[in-house]
Amino acid sequence: MTIGILGGGQLGYMLALAGYPLGLHFRFLDPSPEAPVGRIAHRVTAEYTDEQALEKFAHGLEVATYEFENVPVQAARFLGERVPVYPPAAALEEAQDRLHEKRLFRRLGIPTTEFAEIAKREEFDAAIKQVGLPAVLKTCRLGYDGKGQRLLRTHDDVEKTRPELPAVPLILEKFVPFSREVSILGVRSVTGETAFYPLVENHHRGGILRLSLAPAPNLSPALQQIAEEAARRVLESLGYAGVLCIEFFEFEGKLLANEMAPRVHNSGHWSIEGAVTSQFENHLRAILGLPLGSTKAIGHSAMVNLIGELPEPEPLLKVPNTHLHLYGKSPRPARKLGHVTVRSDKLEKLQQKLQELPSFFHRPEFCLDEALPETLAKRA
Ligand code: AMP
Repeated sequence: MTIGILGGGQLGYMLALAGYPLGLHFRFLDPSPEAPVGRIAHRVTAEYTDEQALEKFAHGLEVATYEFENVPVQAARFLGERVPVYPPAAALEEAQDRLHEKRLFRRLGIPTTEFAEIAKREEFDAAIKQVGLPAVLKTCRLGYDGKGQRLLRTHDDVEKTRPELPAVPLILEKFVPFSREVSILGVRSVTGETAFYPLVENHHRGGILRLSLAPAPNLSPALQQIAEEAARRVLESLGYAGVLCIEFFEFEGKLLANEMAPRVHNSGHWSIEGAVTSQFENHLRAILGLPLGSTKAIGHSAMVNLIGELPEPEPLLKVPNTHLHLYGKSPRPARKLGHVTVRSDKLEKLQQKLQELPSFFHRPEFCLDEALPETLAKRA
């Protein structure tokens, strides 16, 4: 049975690694001849818009999916006329535009921060008036990992930004002074079965995810339930199959949905060793209509992203229950090259292990200080 995957980055790589024990085969399509999956699976190098290549790619596939949310919707639809494609193209369409995504949350009764559309420059002032300051200005499309964003604190910032406004649709969001960022991974099978992983606490620097703690420390059942209910509404409204991630700001005990990703997600990497069934295996089970595996966490996990530079493996792997994942990419600033998951049965022991990690990990960008007992105690 062969699964087709659009996108050949690390998410596709980990999907294939999770699928081999299930006897699955994989075929990838990615425009880059350097896409990491080339090391472990059949890879077709072609543009997503190349219909001839897509036609050939679809041949003999059981089902197709994607690991990259900026795959052109048209490519997913074209493929969908030949083989089943999950998650549905409609999910891709919603998630590719911040405005659509926020409006979907609103329609489903999922709270978000205040926001306004800026379809053209003349609407900038009205948006500022509606939302107020401080606010975050974002491009509606193609912004991720903090790209295409600007924080407007004062009217001075507004005046400085005015002449530089890009001529693309924008969204202005009220800045949320959140206590923390959390995300939920939900999974829905083509059979309609659903399951949810515990909420994860995420730490970003420069708009890039650096550290995830799973389950989120001090996680109350009430908060988990709110997040599950939000994810359930999105999954069901879209007739979804596969893994979906929703990222939230936790603010005054409430969850405000910020964005969603219709795919496996970086904040779910901990689940490879930290959950009974990983997000990657469950995504495959879901799109094949197989029973979903348990999403229960095995103790506590911390996932640290390796960005731009790699550590020496020996001192790192000396720390018990530490797992290193390298994606086979050449180092480049801001590039996700791999991740490390550290696991323990107790949160306190996990924190101790984080303190024992080699000095490489104690630079501020890894955010480890935010996961250590004193900081957590202050936040509780
Ligand atoms: P995004 O691309 O929307 O995930 O934004 C990247 C990061 O910028 C988020 O993880 C937050 O840390 C921050 N951010 C984005 N939007 C807001 C907002 N409305 N209020 C406060 N922080 C934000």
